[in-house]
Amino acid sequence: MGKTDIKSLSFAQLQQEMEKIGEKKFRAAQLYEWMHKKLARNFSEMTNLSLSLREKCGEYFELTALTPVQVQESKLDGTKKFLFELADGNMVESVLMKYHHGNSLCISSQVGCKMGCKFCASTLGGLVRSLTVSEMLDQVYAVTRLTGERISNVVVMGIGEPLDNMENLVKFIRMLTDDKGLHISQRNITVSTCGLVPKMRELAQEELQITLALSLHGVTDEKRKELMPIAEKYGVAELMDACRYYFEKTGRRITFEYALVKGVNDTEEDARGLIRLTSLVHAHVNLIPVNPVRERSYVSSEKEAVKVFQKKLEEAGVNATLRREMGRDIDGACGQLRRNYKKYIF
Ligand code: SAH
Repeated sequence: MGKTDIKSLSFAQLQQEMEKIGEKKFRAAQLYEWMHKKLARNFSEMTNLSLSLREKCGEYFELTALTPVQVQESKLDGTKKFLFELADGNMVESVLMKYHHGNSLCISSQVGCKMGCKFCASTLGGLVRSLTVSEMLDQVYAVTRLTGERISNVVVMGIGEPLDNMENLVKFIRMLTDDKGLHISQRNITVSTCGLVPKMRELAQEELQITLALSLHGVTDEKRKELMPIAEKYGVAELMDACRYYFEKTGRRITFEYALVKGVNDTEEDARGLIRLTSLVHAHVNLIPVNPVRERSYVSSEKEAVKVFQKKLEEAGVNATLRREMGRDIDGACGQLRRNYKKYIF
């Protein structure tokens, strides 16, 4: 049997594990602090533990750490994109964006993605596997260590569909926001989904104070189906019901993400549809001019068209922000992240 992934254990689970290997329960507090506050990469860094305990831990447990393979920095806005290698050789990307309100890290939840959205690079090679709790935490920990900067916001909008990895996602959020760890506020965490209705309801039941972002991109079933295969499974009406349920359970306003694609979803009729949907749900809108992806032919709406679209929403009293495109020159923007590095370096 493989060793237990110690960083994926909750505090209560770690206490049990300590007892199992014949150690005092209080050792769990020390180990947990080393892993989740001091961000130790290996047991030998844990200098206030006896050498014999460190050795014993090495026998029973695996302590994961990501290997940074490449760091790219945007000349446009200082955004940094990190390519990390996982223990099994797979790769994921994370993106650090600096805003005046703090540092925001965009993390991946899976290696690849099976959702097949037509404008997105992350799904081109399909899904390889979901990330473990520790692999999601490790992205935050590694970037904190590498940059020496505090991360105040985490957005689960990198590679993968987070709600297709529900159990690990929820545990990750609980551990990241716990005061025994980095203690990031739940309100500063956003999870983005392409719209897995039953999973959105499940997440609502967790009653977390995080923001749920729905990748809407189309206001009718027909329009959504053009861009997102998942729309074949769940209709817009069901999605709106799930959003309302999320708001009822958590009191948290939903974000509708809307990537503007020239000639596909940027007409006046689309704007009217979006206004209608926001009147059904407590939601605000995040507009993103679609980012170019080499293998895809979608083109972003003209600057002027984006402005007109945004103005229409605002005139109707809809709160609509235009997402700044961060790190576009390093392929760090939405939909540009990939699971395989070798493929795009040449
Ligand atoms: N699977 C999740 C999270 C990852 S994608 C989801 O679908 O929401 C994060 C966001 O980037 C989503 O809103 C997604 O639709 C958007 N996106 C993907 N490709 C894009 C592109 N080329 N341009 C702009 N946004 C894109």
